[in-house]
Amino acid sequence: MGPGPGNPYPEVTEALGRPLMGHLDPAFLALMDETNERLRAVWRTTNPLTFALSGTGSAGMEAAFVNVVRPRDVVVVGVNGAFGERMCEVARRCGAEIVRVEAPWGQPLDPEQLLAAHPSPAVIAVVHAETSTGVRNDVGCLGHGKGDALLVVDCVTSLGGMPVEIDGWGVDLAYSGTQKCLGVPPGLAPFTASERARERFVDRPQSWYLDLSMIADYVSAGGSRAYHHTAPISMVYALHAGLGVLLGEGLEASWARHAECGEVLQDGLARLGLEPFAAEGHRLAQLTSVVVPPDVLPTGLDEAACRRLLLDRYGIEIGGGLGPVAGKVWRVGLMGHTARLRNVTLLLAALEELFSP
Ligand SMILES: *Cc1c(COP(=O)(O)O)cnc(C)c1O
Repeated sequence: MGPGPGNPYPEVTEALGRPLMGHLDPAFLALMDETNERLRAVWRTTNPLTFALSGTGSAGMEAAFVNVVRPRDVVVVGVNGAFGERMCEVARRCGAEIVRVEAPWGQPLDPEQLLAAHPSPAVIAVVHAETSTGVRNDVGCLGHGKGDALLVVDCVTSLGGMPVEIDGWGVDLAYSGTQKCLGVPPGLAPFTASERARERFVDRPQSWYLDLSMIADYVSAGGSRAYHHTAPISMVYALHAGLGVLLGEGLEASWARHAECGEVLQDGLARLGLEPFAAEGHRLAQLTSVVVPPDVLPTGLDEAACRRLLLDRYGIEIGGGLGPVAGKVWRVGLMGHTARLRNVTLLLAALEELFSP
């Protein structure tokens, strides 16, 4: 959904416009260190290797796999949407032997099934918030049963919008993206790796750019910094500012704001005849998915044309379905600064106007 009137995040916009500094300027390094400190607070971790990877969320996914998966390693992957599928493809390219644990689109994964899928996997990987379906997968209980495996969790759509506890849940590698619930433009992938994960880093991963051992020498606080690549200065400013806004509001308050907006939206959509697509009890607040029956749409408009009208007439952008549910569901994001009740009110009123004969 569009940001609505006014600028909801002046801090982030202002940060993007700040004059540049050299990427090795002590003032910039101090700001980067502080950004990493803020990330530790948001991830709820003490992991020293916690930083913002240069690249979008997908770069975070790739870094998580290429640094710990060796050819023929067994990797258990939970698949109940597009991003679980993508994890399989990334692991496959590392030469992994993939064990898929599936659930239908719209349904959550069974954590017991993930843990029982193989006696000694190298990695268990799961998407926390499946943006393609609006489903939350339970990851909090996986850490206890992971055994020797490393637990990899995709937190691209969960971080900032719902509880994420890296240390409390025993997650070894996690990545996110700036443009989802952190409310910062796309371009960085917040990343964290446990000491346990670091001990298992592959010596010379397939990717030079995403080699975490080399990156660690550049981003880790203190000591001598070895140049690896130029940090995207303006994006780090923006993330620093966005995390400041989030921590200023308070993580719990942000989770509660997302939860409230999602609930009001889901109630309102049901009243308009749009039934929820994601399984009850596992619905994301920040990404609401609903089934769109053709007969609720204005005469002569298909679901894509209706979404286009929402954008053109009301300035509201909502997403269509992906993969097997393309053309059948809508996905409504309420992430970061867009998770506001006024946006929910606007969308519900717009739909009511469009749907009325
Ligand atoms: C958006 C998303 C990604 C990919 O992130 P990009 O920033 O688009 O590269 C990965 N996983 C999930 C769950 C996502 O929602």
